Amino acid sequence: MSKNLTTRSEDYSKWYNELVVKADLAENSGVRGCMVIKPYGYAIWEKMQAELDRKFKETGHENAYFPLFVPKSMFEAEEKNAEGFAKECAIVTHYRLKNDPDKPGKLMVDPNAKLEEELIVRPTSEAIIWSTYKGWVQSYRDLPLLINQWANVVRWEMRTRLFLRTAEFLWQEGHTAHATKDEAIEESEKMMNVYADFAENFMAIPVVKGIKTETERFAGAEETYCIEALMQDGKALQAGTSHFLGQNFAKAFDVKFANAEGKQEYVWGTSWGVSTRLMGALVMTHSDDKGLVLPPNLAPIQVVIVPIYKTDEQLGEITAEVNVLIEALKKLNVSVKYDSRTTQKPGFKFAEWELKGVPVRIAVGPKDLENGTFEVARRDTLTKEVKPKEGMATYISDLLVQIQEDLFNRALNYRDSHITEVNNFEEFKAVLNDKGGFVSAHWDGTAATEEKIKDLTKATIRCIPLDRLEEAGSCVFTGAESKGRVLFAKAY
Ligand code: AMP
Repeated sequence: MSKNLTTRSEDYSKWYNELVVKADLAENSGVRGCMVIKPYGYAIWEKMQAELDRKFKETGHENAYFPLFVPKSMFEAEEKNAEGFAKECAIVTHYRLKNDPDKPGKLMVDPNAKLEEELIVRPTSEAIIWSTYKGWVQSYRDLPLLINQWANVVRWEMRTRLFLRTAEFLWQEGHTAHATKDEAIEESEKMMNVYADFAENFMAIPVVKGIKTETERFAGAEETYCIEALMQDGKALQAGTSHFLGQNFAKAFDVKFANAEGKQEYVWGTSWGVSTRLMGALVMTHSDDKGLVLPPNLAPIQVVIVPIYKTDEQLGEITAEVNVLIEALKKLNVSVKYDSRTTQKPGFKFAEWELKGVPVRIAVGPKDLENGTFEVARRDTLTKEVKPKEGMATYISDLLVQIQEDLFNRALNYRDSHITEVNNFEEFKAVLNDKGGFVSAHWDGTAATEEKIKDLTKATIRCIPLDRLEEAGSCVFTGAESKGRVLFAKAY
């Protein structure tokens, strides 16, 4: 383990890449743009999955699984969706290899094994799922259909970054069908709120809830709701999306139902997803120059205990004390690890667990044995205190709750102090360059202005915040009429 992580102020992007690898979350693989998620990183992802899955079920959804491949004609059926994803599709054209007669030991695509119809590796599953829903929905009694799928998808991204943007990524995608427009809109908003609640109360990541402009909207959707987070370098990250699909997919796949009067109507749809990108959000929101900082809710190990000893006899005595504490912590559902490796020195262990973001470290030495104390260190604040062993487990369990809350508040303070209102384009550029973060500005509502601003500054409209003030103003770029402020930022 190398100690010197590049610092955030030196090179934020390098810091992130190094940290993800050194903290054992993930690494690049032999496949372009695809990553290997390592056990420590996967354990965090599993915690996210478990909580999201619980929330989806609590809101009435069930899990199912659909095929990885989408026949090209099926993929094409909803034109806007197909057009939007066409540029980043992986396509299966053949189903067999054979020995290459000219190159011994090498294989070649068997030209006789060409598929009659190409298969698209799903970049998203609306097409395959709506083609299935046609067989599932006949009457209003079949609605709503509330389905979620945990899966991998492939989008042939040109510039990839571990977790943030990979060619293959893991996600969940909800796909629901409803009898009315209002019900579908309500569902899209509900799932955006589920995501926001998850991000803020489980991941300690504050988010802005909003809707996307037409330019940034999901291909094939009528409206895209989103949650946007702000990373420590002042760049925004789209953390989750929820789409109101109107009747677009129902029409493309002829999904109709007989209403209570026996009349045929097209079904209304939604889809919503969050991905392994959330792992990137987690790292970039909380971590520091010493490594990961994990909110207790997501930490695979919440407490690590390190013995400090010279003799085997001391180690034996410490271990006896520690075992009592471990039992008490386990009773309170705290996940704890006793790092009694004899091959490493305490200093090495401290640095390693700091790098891995374990929220609380307890150290016990001979002095503590004498005094009946433990030394408790917080990863988030890097502070230490000596505490009596009585009531220790409860103290730690409460401390974990406190850390979770403090991390959220720290991120919230940062976020709130990085939303800057500007009223002219000079200010806009200055804030974006000097301070970063969200720039709150009036916009004339046109895609052309959005595009020009993006060309000039690299900033995009992250969202039209749902809680924005409806106020007349003039566009920061064109001076034309505006109905309210939107949030611009450079984004991942
Ligand atoms: P979308 O289907 O485009 O609305 O995306 C659903 C979720 O996946 C959003 O939270 C995106 O931020 C995320 N996402 C999109 N593309 C990628 C990618 N290449 N790698 C990781 N996450 C992604």
